Amino acid sequence: MKNISVIGSGTMGNGIAHTFAQFGYQVSLVDINLDALGRAIATITKNLERQIAKGTLTEEAKEATLANITTVTDLQAGVENADLIVEAATENIELKLKIFKDLDQFAKPEAILASNTSSISITQIASVTNRGDKVIGMHFMNPVPVMKLVEVIRGYATSDDTTFQIMELSKVISKIPVEVNDYPGFVANRILMPMINEAIYTLYEGVAGVDEIDTVMKLGMAHPMGPLQLADFIGLDVCLAILNVLNRGFGNPKYAPCPLLVNMVMAGKKGIKTGEGFYDYSNGVKEAKVATKFTPNP
Ligand code: NAD
Repeated sequence: MKNISVIGSGTMGNGIAHTFAQFGYQVSLVDINLDALGRAIATITKNLERQIAKGTLTEEAKEATLANITTVTDLQAGVENADLIVEAATENIELKLKIFKDLDQFAKPEAILASNTSSISITQIASVTNRGDKVIGMHFMNPVPVMKLVEVIRGYATSDDTTFQIMELSKVISKIPVEVNDYPGFVANRILMPMINEAIYTLYEGVAGVDEIDTVMKLGMAHPMGPLQLADFIGLDVCLAILNVLNRGFGNPKYAPCPLLVNMVMAGKKGIKTGEGFYDYSNGVKEAKVATKFTPNP
């Protein structure tokens, strides 16, 4: 594989493009939003500079990485030469089905179509294409250049050959792939999201405040980040979308999203990407302070 297209240049798409480009792949980064593409290149540049400051990257490698990325708003032009397409657009089932229908039409017949979806069925995504054997989940973790795991999700029709190629490619870009089957939330989010939802319920029911909940989980469970801060980091809209998939997929109310999460997303408080979630990021992430006003029950 030489040419890789990444669809969607948001939180995950820019990290996926960064990682492949750093390992020498030609990356075509596609987004319907031109401003998002501009922001993605600015973020990739900033993150490469951070790697230089840490001594893990040279200035030449930064320039070479940036030179390996082209940005485009036209899907067909962005994918026609690709050997692999990694879709990282908004977590919305109708949107993803439309994108994969188009990808099946525009991409080379031998190209592999991967989705970075957090929870949507790979089998359902594959069903709108004529190459179900070449559709697979390639679920990176945030921030992509830093996190080692790739959850590789086999849809019902995904072939052994496709799975093998994606497992091997993940190793080439210095990741550790783990193969899982296609059921709602896969492994990562089936376990993570109920924990985050329970942390939000704990806040909602007045058991403790934001800082207290995150401190208990950081110091008590050795988590590097508390669940509420992690939710801000992932994006509260993304968390809500995943919980809805789990709730519908298993038909079990234990996955029902907490009403506080629903309200915060409706109010546009989606975490770091909007400047406010459970914490206030107006002074930069490092100075985050609790923004959610909540009075615990006496
Ligand atoms: P995001 O909202 O930050 O970015 C989504 C991008 O997709 C936006 O730039 C938007 O303009 C673009 N987009 C929307 N429709 C498009 C289309 N038709 N064609 C091209 N681009 C389009 O979202 P994100 O957090 O990067 O999530 C992307 C995917 O990655 C989702 O499926 C999500 O579940 C998954 N994911 C997210 C995280 C996380 O921590 N945020 C972690 C793992 C996986």
